[in-house]
Amino acid sequence: MQFIEALKLKSKLFFLFILITLGLVSVGIMGTMNVESMKKNLDSVYFGSLVPVTELNEMLQVYHGGLASILYKAKSSEVNRDKTSAKIELSLNKINKIWNSYKSHFKRDNELDYIEYVNIEIKNVNYYFVTMLRYVRKNNNLEELSIVSLEKNVSHIHTVLQKLITYEVDMAKYERKVFLSKYEKAMFRLTVVLGLIILAVLIISYSVFRSIQSDHTKLEEASKKLKKLNKKLENVSYTDSLTSMHNRRYFNLVYERELKRAKRTHSYITFMMLDIDFFKQYNDTYGHLEGDNTLKSVAKVLKEVLQRPSDFVFRLGGEEFGVLLTQTDESSSAKMARDICDAVRDIKIAHSASKANEFVTISIGVVCCIADDALNEDLLLSRADEMLYEAKDTGRDRYIITSNVNENTVGSIDELTAS
Ligand code: GH3
Ligand code: MG
Ligand code: MG
Repeated sequence: MQFIEALKLKSKLFFLFILITLGLVSVGIMGTMNVESMKKNLDSVYFGSLVPVTELNEMLQVYHGGLASILYKAKSSEVNRDKTSAKIELSLNKINKIWNSYKSHFKRDNELDYIEYVNIEIKNVNYYFVTMLRYVRKNNNLEELSIVSLEKNVSHIHTVLQKLITYEVDMAKYERKVFLSKYEKAMFRLTVVLGLIILAVLIISYSVFRSIQSDHTKLEEASKKLKKLNKKLENVSYTDSLTSMHNRRYFNLVYERELKRAKRTHSYITFMMLDIDFFKQYNDTYGHLEGDNTLKSVAKVLKEVLQRPSDFVFRLGGEEFGVLLTQTDESSSAKMARDICDAVRDIKIAHSASKANEFVTISIGVVCCIADDALNEDLLLSRADEMLYEAKDTGRDRYIITSNVNENTVGSIDELTAS
């Protein structure tokens, strides 16, 4: 069954369909052939035995009831001359017709001699009745009709025909026996062939099903592997390679999702834009590699400060980070921003070129508001950016928070906190 394994799923199903169709067609052909052969056998029993027996019995009936009976009646003057001659003529014609019909049926070679004998005997007996007919036609007085040979002739032809009838009945019994034996053999053949076809169809179907099942299992395994790989790939595509933090792509996703949720529930949403102070000078002073290490250290601190499941932190690009807080009011958001500034400063990474502090520091622009349907998503980001610039402009190492997302209020700062 190796070749089944090699087939594609569609071909396997097609193969199964062909197999079942072939099975059904062969069963149909076998059945039709058997019914046809049974019909032939029935025909041969009917035409070979039943019809001839009926014909021979009919002939006997004509000899007894037609010819003998009319002559007895004529002798006792029960019927007149015309009626008698008409009846004899009619009966003889009938006998000839039936006998010719009987002879026309198929005869075996071994039967021919006896048939010929019967033929001669019928002719002889019929000749006797023809002479009787002539006498009846010639003579008016039928009481003088001599019927001494009548009984002898009728009895003789009765014996001859009866022998033929007995032979035909025996043949019918024999034919039936042959037919039954043929029928039993055919039924046995049919059962065996049907059994073999069903067995073959079952075995091959089983192989096809197993092969389909194994294909399905392989497909499921491949699909699981693919899902895992996709997940990995997705994680990679959402992760910043330097800091192992979520990147801007992931931020876009989370930002949209959380904003929708906040709008739906009319709850607080806070976005913070973070930027390391004088980082260009840091690179220039300590080198790019050291700059990367500092980015990693800042990222680590951010992750440590923002540990609630509802807090999200991202590296948005360069030395800029984004923080998204949900369900956090203005004062808690301000506290969180202050904690971040403190935590970054507290890791004490020396920054001799900074004009804000002797250590690396961070500035934050914060927007905190209750989300409603009118909240403009882009404005939330640009307002945070504006707040960040305010923080930079007013000395750095600080956060500036606003709850006003309205564009017209750019520059109006709700709270300014220098840590
Ligand atoms: P400011 O306080 O106004 O933000 O001053 P700044 O020098 O930080 O100015 P700005 O934010 O424009 O400078 C960003 C610098 O950050 C420029 C670039 O050299 C540096 N930087 C950006 N990405 C990376 C990075 O992946 N690694 C390193 N080492 N430096 C980076
Ligand atoms: Mg920057
Ligand atoms: Mg900077």
